[in-house]
Amino acid sequence: MSVNVSPPVLLTIDDEEAVRSSIAAFFEDCGYIVLQACDGHEGIDMLTNMRPDVIITDLRMPNVDGLEVVTSVTSLDDNLPIVVLSGTGMLTDALQALRCGAWDYLPKPLADLAELEFVVNRCRERARLVSENRAYHENLELLVKQRTAELRTLCIAVEQSANSVVITDVNGTIEYVNPKFTEVSGYSSEEAIGRNPRILRSDKQLDSYYKEMWQTISSGREWQGEFCNKTKDGRQYWELCSIAPIKDEHGSITHYVANKEDITARKRHEDQLYYQANFDQLTGLPNRYYFQKYLELQLELVDHDTQFLTLMVLDIDNLKAVNDTFGHDFGDLLLKEIAHRMELACGLNTVVSRFVGDEFTVVPPLSREADSALFQAERIRSALNDVFMIKGTEITTSACIGVAIYPEDGECVESMLKNAEAAMYQAKRDGKNAVVLYTRELNSQLEQRFLWDARLRKALERDEFTLQYQPQVDQCSRSIVGVEALLRWTPAGESPVTPTQFIPILEENGLIVPVGEWVLQEACRQAVAWRQAGLPAMRISVNISALQFMRSDLELTVRRVLEQSGLEPVCLCLELTESVIMTDSDPTLKKLADLKEIGVTLSLDDFGTGYSSLAYLGRLPINELKIDISFVRRMLSTPNDAAVVNTIIAMGHGLGVELVAEGVETEEQLQYLLERGCPVIQGYYFSPPLTAERFVAFCGVNAKV
Ligand code: C2E
Ligand code: MG
Ligand code: MG
Repeated sequence: MSVNVSPPVLLTIDDEEAVRSSIAAFFEDCGYIVLQACDGHEGIDMLTNMRPDVIITDLRMPNVDGLEVVTSVTSLDDNLPIVVLSGTGMLTDALQALRCGAWDYLPKPLADLAELEFVVNRCRERARLVSENRAYHENLELLVKQRTAELRTLCIAVEQSANSVVITDVNGTIEYVNPKFTEVSGYSSEEAIGRNPRILRSDKQLDSYYKEMWQTISSGREWQGEFCNKTKDGRQYWELCSIAPIKDEHGSITHYVANKEDITARKRHEDQLYYQANFDQLTGLPNRYYFQKYLELQLELVDHDTQFLTLMVLDIDNLKAVNDTFGHDFGDLLLKEIAHRMELACGLNTVVSRFVGDEFTVVPPLSREADSALFQAERIRSALNDVFMIKGTEITTSACIGVAIYPEDGECVESMLKNAEAAMYQAKRDGKNAVVLYTRELNSQLEQRFLWDARLRKALERDEFTLQYQPQVDQCSRSIVGVEALLRWTPAGESPVTPTQFIPILEENGLIVPVGEWVLQEACRQAVAWRQAGLPAMRISVNISALQFMRSDLELTVRRVLEQSGLEPVCLCLELTESVIMTDSDPTLKKLADLKEIGVTLSLDDFGTGYSSLAYLGRLPINELKIDISFVRRMLSTPNDAAVVNTIIAMGHGLGVELVAEGVETEEQLQYLLERGCPVIQGYYFSPPLTAERFVAFCGVNAKV
């Protein structure tokens, strides 16, 4: 590749035409473009138009002489080689020319033009070197200027950075911190420099975390991670930090530079999101999502051969009734208290979560004994039985707990849950406030339950409900003093289902309200019909469930039914259970008083199974206590139950209320109760519940027993 270089230009200034010509001829041969000027004046003129690469000038010339040329050339361009030829042969001339700026000197006449060429070449080489040198220095200067500007920008960037910047030496001693660092950490640069970044540690992170960081950066690699640090005055903050080693030209680390972004706000937001996703806002307990993840994890961890994993599902009895009576704010406060008590009863290693509404789950730590969970369940249950004080109101509650144990009762979250829930529903059916361990039969019962639920919804319109009547006999007067109406359900084409199986379903799905009203109507209608048929006067008892009682229109319903049927209020007895009147509260007392006002009798059914306090009982406007069947059944074999029966009888006498003993089956039981002063008996000893016709027959035969 040929480079197109323009030929060098030589200017010869001489008043002797011959000299100029010979120089021109010679240098043109050497490839120069030669310009000629016949005196100094013309020479200087030519310089203004173009710059030759070299000038050869005579010293002695008319008008403007060589010295003047030299002076003006050097003042014009100090790197333009100018060679002086002098015919005088005087050394002083030459010296003067050199002093004025001439580059070299040759005497005239020129013996050998090659000598001139040599001088010219040497001068041009010098000029080339000078200009190269100058260019080099100019570049250097430019570079330094650029670099300085860059560094200044960099400095400003670091100083004004929105991130903290810390530079340490290879040992970790701080050499530089930027203003942001001071703003975030509270340490001024004077306080930080010379110390170790360890001053920021919050002890929230393990030593191994820092160790790993040091290993990475001291091996020459960059490290990125999050630090929980503390400020000079002890506040915690989070930083996203990247630390890079700085190496010298030999590759040895001389410094570390840390760039740290304050992510405290983001962390807080993340924490908040995590909390919202995993915890229940009301109670602060882990929520359903957290629970499921936790149970999944426990199922992975459990050692099949040596450990048991237990799941409890706990449902608060009657929370709906509490909400209906006292409002949801009250119910919420109760739930919070319940959650708190459950946590206390369970201890630290158990995960209690709010599954949904009033349903909680409990996962105790993995254990070698299956029954330790049952003890815990009992502990929770009894903790919830203690009186709660909500907004100045005393309230008692109870819970049903279903327990499923891995691996027998389920191998995955879904099956464990399903089975623990089945056990919980069984506990509800067992009369509430109970702990029930899952058994395989429960699942089919649960399926049955769903089936029944659908059928029960149609039972009323299909006339599948009937009532049976069980007499209450006064052993002293040996007369029938009352009769309890008991609901029966016979699904079309099937055998009857017992009330203990279907009534809890009606209570849960709310159907107990219309069905209960039907019972009330039917019982009242029947009572009037019997009176008209000539049966002796007696009281008819109707069971009222919690949901019916809680409804604001119960009083009106009772009044309306009495009016429609024509039954006298004194002939109607409403049986309420202790759990219905669960709270020592003004609304409850008001409701009872309103019912009492109608003139009906109020009876406390299944007495002794609840937790009514004696003081509370004294304030209740009730007329009758029904001793629960379970005590009667066991009173002759278990001294404790005998004591309960004795106490209830004494209490009834003390309070001046009537007593009825339920479930009397034998002569011995009858005698025992009679001796203790409880003559009114309801039980198989006299009669099981009967159809209306058979009851009439029973009355006919036994009008006087
Ligand atoms: P309860 O009100 O305590 O009724 C007494 C239960 O004891 C009746 O069971 C009755 O048949 C049974 N019983 C009476 N004497 C004896 C005896 O000597 N031995 C035995 N083993 N049992 C006896 P039933 O009819 O199965 O009713 C069970 C429960 O269902 C009732 O208990 C009551 O709580 C509820 N129930 C029944 N009918 C209604 C109703 O119309 N409305 C509401 N809300 N609940 C009802
Ligand atoms: Mg009853
Ligand atoms: Mg009863």
